[in-house]
Amino acid sequence: MRATQIKREAANQATGVPGEILVQWDDGHSSRYSLAYLREECPCAGCKGEVLFGKVYRPPTLSVFKPGMNELTQLKPTGGYGVMASWGDGHDTGIYSWEYLRMICPCAECVAKRPAPVE
Ligand SMILES: [Zn+2]
Ligand SMILES: [Zn+2]
Repeated sequence: MRATQIKREAANQATGVPGEILVQWDDGHSSRYSLAYLREECPCAGCKGEVLFGKVYRPPTLSVFKPGMNELTQLKPTGGYGVMASWGDGHDTGIYSWEYLRMICPCAECVAKRPAPVE
């Protein structure tokens, strides 16, 4: 599974539509992620916590809103297996592998296929 095309759609100030990332997959599927969603799903240990023995350990502090945190400053391919995102607040440790990106695809089709999240 890999992305064949990644397109960035700028926010539309006039309509208030936030910026989005569009990903076209090699199996014909396409995904659309809002920047806020991508940031929320940042896979780095600092944001998502670490998965140990099948359990997710979230960082103890709740993330607070920082100015610029949902503004993508850079999206850089990393060695052909994913992309690295840099955010407006300086956060740049999240590497989104293709598998991960596809896993968090927010479209109805993919959501229906995923098991319900464990609270
Ligand atoms: Zn992170
Ligand atoms: Zn999908």
